Amino acid sequence: MRLYEFEGKELFNRLKIPIPNGRLAESPAEVGKIANEWNKPLVLKAQVLTGGRGKAGGVKVVNNPDDAQAVATELFALKIKGFPVERLLVEPRLSIQKEMYVGITIDRVNYKVVVIASSKGGVDIEDVAAKTPEKIFRKSYDIDEEFYDFDAIELAKQIGLPSQYVKEASRIVMALFSLFKKYDAKMVEINPLVLTAEDTLIAADSRISLDDDALFRHPDLAEMGIEKRHEEGEMTPREQQAKEWGIPYLDLDGNIGMFPGGAGFGIMGNDFIHYYGGTPANFMDSGGGPSPERLARMLVLLDENPNVKAIFGARFGGISRCDDFAKGVIMFLKEHGLTKPMVTRMTGNVWQEGVRLFEEAKKENPELFAHFEFHGIETPIEEIAKRAVELASEQEGGK
Ligand code: GDP
Ligand code: MN
Repeated sequence: MRLYEFEGKELFNRLKIPIPNGRLAESPAEVGKIANEWNKPLVLKAQVLTGGRGKAGGVKVVNNPDDAQAVATELFALKIKGFPVERLLVEPRLSIQKEMYVGITIDRVNYKVVVIASSKGGVDIEDVAAKTPEKIFRKSYDIDEEFYDFDAIELAKQIGLPSQYVKEASRIVMALFSLFKKYDAKMVEINPLVLTAEDTLIAADSRISLDDDALFRHPDLAEMGIEKRHEEGEMTPREQQAKEWGIPYLDLDGNIGMFPGGAGFGIMGNDFIHYYGGTPANFMDSGGGPSPERLARMLVLLDENPNVKAIFGARFGGISRCDDFAKGVIMFLKEHGLTKPMVTRMTGNVWQEGVRLFEEAKKENPELFAHFEFHGIETPIEEIAKRAVELASEQEGGK
């Protein structure tokens, strides 16, 4: 489970990792008050359980403290990746000389703890890894292995820190390693670790994810108000809605809505979409033989998602029947209507009857099918995936 930045920083503070001296605020007026009191340049940071806040406009530097309240008002009105902003962390602005990255996580393939560092901080480490892998230092440890100061010194040197900072940087990395073990973390990250204009090192951000099954071992976290966070805390509003409806659903980053029949078909569809150069907007499982209501709800999740540009449907009638599938989709078309282009294919259990129902409904009411293309077993699934990618890029191009 993920911690908020301010919670992570509190843990940093306990382990003597330097952090800015910040305060939490729940309203613009509160921010205004703090700004008044401090009367210096600030940074206002939205506290939401997701990364990439900077890019999403959730981190604002306020040079004139008189502006703080107005900027805070804008921040409180934001939704970042679906999360409303309910609290801001107010900190004195840092003058940044250099931004670096230090993180520790678990390598699940090799069962190792891996320490990762880079001279390129402040940006997504995944981007750095993809574009300039030589700028990333990594080293693996067994869980019961020590992280020694010479390890830390090597790492600090690798990220290009001038020698006078190596000692302090190694102290910080060792503290981060202790924190990782002490609190049963799955991931701890300082991004960026900042070298300030005043030549000090400070953790400007924290990202921590803990193993919630181990929470009972840490009563001190409960005292800080860190308690088992229902997974909902980390869910997007759409994922929460899906959960209420009992639909296994996950938001992804792409623009193709995935409307599969069964998890297996969903995984395969995902691979096909990627193969043809597209990216899925979600993963979804219909969860057994779905009723027409349920199918309609699955489609609502996709059709109302602004990221979705086209919908890919792949139905394999196994236990469930394709005619029931067609009835559910038709019900959705009639009651809700489809605003996104969709292409779908049915095979398996009475697929011919499914196609027939679609054809009949289309004859009755052609407008309902204006954006909806359906196919039976005669069209290979690859064609459907290709078509969905095509439809999505037409939409993107036409924006
Ligand atoms: P994230 O985008 O959610 O990871 O949020 P961060 O806390 O990492 O902030 C994003 C970026 O905002 C950082 O990489 C910095 O470049 C910038 N930033 C954050 N705090 C400060 C600050 O105090 N002063 C300045 N000048 N920039 C900051
Ligand atoms: Mn960050």
